[in-house]
Amino acid sequence: MYHNTSNEPLSGMNISSQKLEKQIYYLINKGYTFLKISELTHFNKKAKHVVLTFDDGFVGNYTYLFDLLKRYNVSATIYLTPKIKNIVSLSSNHIKEMQESGLVEFGAHTMTHVNLEKVDDKIAQKEIVQSKKAVEKLTGFTCFSFAYPYGRYNDHHIEMVKNAGFTTAVTTKKAILAFDNANAYTLPRLSINGCVNMIQFYLILSRGRYKL
Ligand SMILES: [Zn+2]
Repeated sequence: MYHNTSNEPLSGMNISSQKLEKQIYYLINKGYTFLKISELTHFNKKAKHVVLTFDDGFVGNYTYLFDLLKRYNVSATIYLTPKIKNIVSLSSNHIKEMQESGLVEFGAHTMTHVNLEKVDDKIAQKEIVQSKKAVEKLTGFTCFSFAYPYGRYNDHHIEMVKNAGFTTAVTTKKAILAFDNANAYTLPRLSINGCVNMIQFYLILSRGRYKL
C-alpha cells in the first residue's frame, strides 16, 4: 500500500520515485509477478505475486509512478476518490491515458474520503455506490475494487461493497495472506512508508512489518 509518489519530503503518504524504482527493481529481480488487484481473483499459480496499490488519486501517480510502470512494464492499482479535497488529484486525461496503457486498474475509495464508521448507513451507501459509478465514468471501464478510507469499516459496509458489485475490497490490515473468497472483501495490505530503507522493505515483504 502506497499513496503519493513525488519529490516532496518522504513520509507515510509519500515515496520518492527513486526509492519506488529500487523497490520495483527488487521485486522484478526476485521473480515476482505484478498483478492488478482484480487479477488476484483468478490467479492461481503458486508463483510469487504482488499488487502495488496507491490510494487517494494523487497527481504524482501520473507524474512519477506511471513512468516507472511503463519503463519496467509492470502494473499497479490506483484507488480514486473523485471528490477528495486538499490534494492535487489526477485529471480525467491522466486517468484515461493510464487506463488505456493497460498497466493500471482503477478502484474506488468513496467520493469524499469519508470515514465510513463515522457516517450513517445511508451516507455510507451513497459514498460507496457513487464512487463506483464516478470511477467508471472516468475510465470507461467497470470498476471492480474498493478501498476503505482510513481502513475503517464494519459488516454493513462489507455488504454494501458486495451489493454494489465490487469483487474485491482492500483494508489497511497488515498481513501476508493468500487470496481466497473468504477474504476477498477484507484484503490485508503491507504499508510501505516512504522512509523505509531496502532492508526494512525486505523485512516487510517477508514478515509483514519491519519493527521487531
Ligand atoms: Zn485514502
